[in-house]
Amino acid sequence: PLLVSSMLRNAVKTHGDTEIVSRTAEGAIHRYTYEDFWRRSQQLAHALHRLGLRAGDRVGTLAWNGHRHLELLYAVSGAGFVSHTINPRLFPDQIAGIIEHAGDRVLFVEPDMLGLIEKLAERLQGVEAIVILADRSRMPVSARFPDLLCYEELIEGQPNVFEWPQLDERTACGLCYTSGTTGAPKGVLYSHRSCVLHAMAVCMPDSFGLAAADSAMPVVPMFHVNAWGLPYASILVGAKLVLPGAKLDGTSLHGLIASEGVTMTAGVPTVWTGLLEWVAAHGETLGSLRKVGIGGSACPPVMIERFAALGVDVVHAWGMTESSPVALACQPKRKHHHLPAEARRALGRKQGRPLTGIELKVLGPDRREVPRDGKTFGRLMIRGPTVAAGYFASENDEAFAEPGWFDTGDVVTLDQDGFVEIVDRTKDVIKSGGEWIGSIELENIAVSHPSVREAAVVARPDPKWGERPVLFVVPNDGKTFTATDALAHYDGKVAKWCIPTEVRVVDALPHTATGKLLKSEIRKMV
Ligand code: AMP
Repeated sequence: PLLVSSMLRNAVKTHGDTEIVSRTAEGAIHRYTYEDFWRRSQQLAHALHRLGLRAGDRVGTLAWNGHRHLELLYAVSGAGFVSHTINPRLFPDQIAGIIEHAGDRVLFVEPDMLGLIEKLAERLQGVEAIVILADRSRMPVSARFPDLLCYEELIEGQPNVFEWPQLDERTACGLCYTSGTTGAPKGVLYSHRSCVLHAMAVCMPDSFGLAAADSAMPVVPMFHVNAWGLPYASILVGAKLVLPGAKLDGTSLHGLIASEGVTMTAGVPTVWTGLLEWVAAHGETLGSLRKVGIGGSACPPVMIERFAALGVDVVHAWGMTESSPVALACQPKRKHHHLPAEARRALGRKQGRPLTGIELKVLGPDRREVPRDGKTFGRLMIRGPTVAAGYFASENDEAFAEPGWFDTGDVVTLDQDGFVEIVDRTKDVIKSGGEWIGSIELENIAVSHPSVREAAVVARPDPKWGERPVLFVVPNDGKTFTATDALAHYDGKVAKWCIPTEVRVVDALPHTATGKLLKSEIRKMV
């Protein structure tokens, strides 16, 4: 059977001395090997049984990317329980709601997130134990939860050999909730089988191409769809893992890249804006870094160029909680290598081709497949062994209305080479004079202007056209950006009727818990 525990068992036999490096909550660097990780995971599996957990029980985590969180990811699933990584950036009410909905029996919590759950104490009636991810010297005191357990004490003295159960590979191993951009978060349950297959697909050369020679740093948090599967993929191939903890600013990330020889990393576009600004301001390079996976929201072409100038390839990728998450990755084919620079740039803007195992189709309003011309808009439908068949403990959802397929809710184009470009979310697309305007293209153009740091385009009701695009921009420090600048900048890049009608300059834009622009809030500002 394809099991999470087998990935680790096999890896430790060949890569026992490979390093796992974490930045702890206190800022210190923790270092150990696959061998140590394997031993402590087995101790943790014993400790989980001693907490009285039964097969299939959910175990919640509120934690940064670090070695203890990694141990939980493997030991909880490996021992036959379900690891539920919770996003601490959701609204407190949503956090309480998903802990209740998941039925988490035990919570493992980073010391700096204790305050968050103390406020939710009344709603955590189903939680039987709270374990703090720390040693005794760093244990907080809580009037709300006087019986807090200490992680290091919990595993200390446990036997370091555990008989991992030979589960059916379709047994549940993990649970993640969507970021709730368009409603309440929904739970997606992964099987051991889908988790291993996803890890393999992510390692493929036409995806993130991970190998034993890599030093991989998942900047995307484990609470954002299990760090896009990188903690599994890295262990599967025996790569060095660098876990950056809570500090994702330019100085901290650059420091880890330099000291740990990071070759590959991945995260949402907003986090890279910070790193690129820091590198430019300090006249630094990105050293050993060769590849960065960018997804979660569209990667602006200008970001791809900035990385390229530093010798780093961007792998633009697309995915959803429902697809484990990575389902598309943009890697050129052999015939693309000789394309002129402009055509290569246009290709990199796309979210890419399906990963091994993913099948897709794009449907027009008549539910028929649209032409593969890279121009016609349609709804992206996907299926495959890493795509969910329904939401956890919930009624039938319309996204699964067509048997065997998942309706992503994204509006896309598909070209002859199988490359998908995301135009917008169905709910965000702007309908003007009977035509659709995609906000992503307009945002990408805006951020290519040297004065613009971040941009969002949303619809404004219009008596004549139905809707018109409004551009919100956050200017770079000390820069200005006016409606006249916008007009000049868009001229010749898009059809005249697509150019935003209004420009609003703001200090900041609202984001979701996973760093995407929060379009529903931005629309309220119009
Ligand atoms: P979530 O429900 O939080 O898993 O978010 C999934 C959604 O994020 C997708 O349906 C897309 O709308 C968006 N998304 C993810 N990756 C990309 C990307 N590379 N470009 C544009 N949108 C993306």
